[in-house]
Formats: sequence, C-alpha cells, structure tokens
Amino acid sequence: MIQTVGFIGLGKMGMPMAKNLLNSGFGVFGTDVNETAVSEFVSIGGKTGNMLEWLNKVDSIILMLPSSKIVNQVIDEVIEHYTPEHQSNENPLIIIDMSSSYPAETRKNLLKLGGSNIQFMDAPVSGGVKKAISGTLTIMAGGSADLFSKCKRLLEAMGSNIFHVGPIGSGHLIKAINNYLSATHLLASCEAVQLLQSFEVDPATAINVFNQSTGRSGSTEYKFPSFILTESYDSGFNLELLRKDLEMATRLFSDSEAATKLPQFIFEKFDEASRSLAQNADHTEIYQYVTSYLFQRGISNEKDSKAISNCNDTSVSI
Ligand code: NAD
Repeated sequence: MIQTVGFIGLGKMGMPMAKNLLNSGFGVFGTDVNETAVSEFVSIGGKTGNMLEWLNKVDSIILMLPSSKIVNQVIDEVIEHYTPEHQSNENPLIIIDMSSSYPAETRKNLLKLGGSNIQFMDAPVSGGVKKAISGTLTIMAGGSADLFSKCKRLLEAMGSNIFHVGPIGSGHLIKAINNYLSATHLLASCEAVQLLQSFEVDPATAINVFNQSTGRSGSTEYKFPSFILTESYDSGFNLELLRKDLEMATRLFSDSEAATKLPQFIFEKFDEASRSLAQNADHTEIYQYVTSYLFQRGISNEKDSKAISNCNDTSVSI
C-alpha cells in the first residue's frame, strides 16, 4: 500500500495536488528547483529535500513537470541513484507521471524503468488550478490494471473523476487530444466573439446566448466569464504549456494521417501567439492575440460599418 510519496514539481498544479496528498494523510517529500515553492511546501507541513535524500524512503514518486524533456531527465536520475534495498519484488517503487508528457516518450520510459524493477504509470490531469485546489481533477491513467488499482487511493486524494484509459501512454494520448479540442473551442470562440463585437453585439451577451445554445463549450462556460470578459487572464495555465500540448497533438494527427489541416492550423495560431505575447502569458490571452490579428486584417472598428452594410446588402450571398 502506498503511504509515502516523493512529489517533484511544486508548481501551479503540483503544489495544490501535493497539499491534498498531505491532507489525506500521505507522507509527502516535495522537491522543486524553485526555492520559494519548497519553502511554501515546508510551511504547510510537507517534508522536503533533494530527491537523493528521500529516494529510498518513498513507495512512489509523482512527477508534475513542464515537459517530457524534464520528466526524462528526472527518470534517468532515479534510475541512476535508486537502490531498492528496503523494497521487495512484490512492492517495487512506483513512478506516476502526472505531467502532460509526450506519449512516445512515456512508452520509452516504461522500457527504461523495467530494467530497474520500478513500475510506471501515466496519469495526466484536466481541470486546471481550480480543481487541483479542490481535489476534483479529472485523472486519465495509462498502465496495467493491477498498477491502477494499487494507485487508486493515491489518485483519489487529488481527483474525483478517475479513469483507467488503457495501456501505458494512453493517458498522455487522451490528454494531448483533449487539449487540442479545448484549444480549438477557445480559438473558435475568440474569433466568433470578435466578429460579433464588430457588429456591435456585446461579448457578454453573445457568451450568454452560446451558453444556452449548441455553441457552448468549456471556453464559453468557464474561460470567457472567468478570465477573458473580466480581463484578468489568470487561469493559471500558461500559453507555452498549451502550445506544447498542441505540438504533441499535431504530431500525433500527422503521424497517423488521421485528420485534415485543422490541428496544424490551430497549433500555428497558438505558436504565433506564444512568440508574440509575453513569456509567461496565460493561455486565455490568446483572445488578445486574436484581437490583434483581426485588427491587422481590417476587422476593426473602422471596417465595422462596412461589415454591417455588407450584411444589409442583399447582393452579398452569405
Ligand atoms: P508550472 O510551471 O507552474 O510548474 C512546474 C514546476 O516544475 C515549477 O515549479 C518548476 O520550478 C518545476 N521544475 C522544473 N524543472 C524541474 C526539475 N528539474 N526538478 C524539479 N522541479 C522542476 O506548471 P504547471 O502549470 O503546474 O503544469 C505542470 C504540468 O501539468 C505541465 O505538464 C502542464 O502541461 C500540466 N497541466 C497544467 C495545467 C494548468 O492548468 N496549469 C492543467 C493540466 C495539466
């Protein structure tokens, strides 16, 4: 039974997830390259230290890191330093990668870890910072059914919708595709609201109508009212992280020739936005980027009157 966890990556998501593990009675060692995050974790009762100090004291390790590249580095470090003296073959160390990682890298990591008698599962999350804090994340786990049942109690401390979705890497696959769908809704909603605004429709009114109609989505029901219409742009999910997810999803679609050019188009828009906005921009700031490129193309107030008069012009076929 898992009782002690090493948690690596105490960022916007990892910190509240690690706090929820503490609150559920797990012993948690927290590690992060950011000293401020480590101090905050200690202040709420967490144990901390360099991974090498706690590696042989924990039953499992959770990774909540920004990219596959960093996940791979940490896993190589675990393999190099792990000495399974106190662990029996029946209860090997378990690593759960809850980051949004690249599925092909996840499968490679399983092969690497197999040689060290370390079990491995992917269990990325959806729901953002708000659900990380409330412990109500959606968790999509990939790995063997046995391993999933061993980890279920641990996952339940962080999430309320917990799915075993298939073999290793399946969680990361679903997560990448989920975020592609989410980004597609967001971009489409941003362009739709901009267009309606050019016809003098109030954005809040448009969003209210969508939310009672078939055009609704997570973007119109949550992101627009909470972060875009309020102009707070503080969802806690960085644009760069979504850009990474879209790069993965686009590669998956193009490798399997399973789609039109839509995934590539969506990726390009978020990629352009991440290069033009500030480094730590929130992903909801895509709205501002959409505003700027539509203005450049002339869908601006100056052109509004033309758009409206075209609308009244019966010779224009719509
Ligand atoms: P974040 O940047 O806030 O947190 C990442 C943390 O990892 C940081 O504190 C950073 O200092 C730490 N870190 C980086 N390299 C490290 C290393 N070598 N060793 C130890 N710590 C290291 O990011 P986040 O928003 O918490 O996202 C984490 C993961 O969760 C990402 O893969 C992201 O795509 C995914 N995710 C984020 C959200 C969200 O809403 N923010 C939602 C779902 C999934």
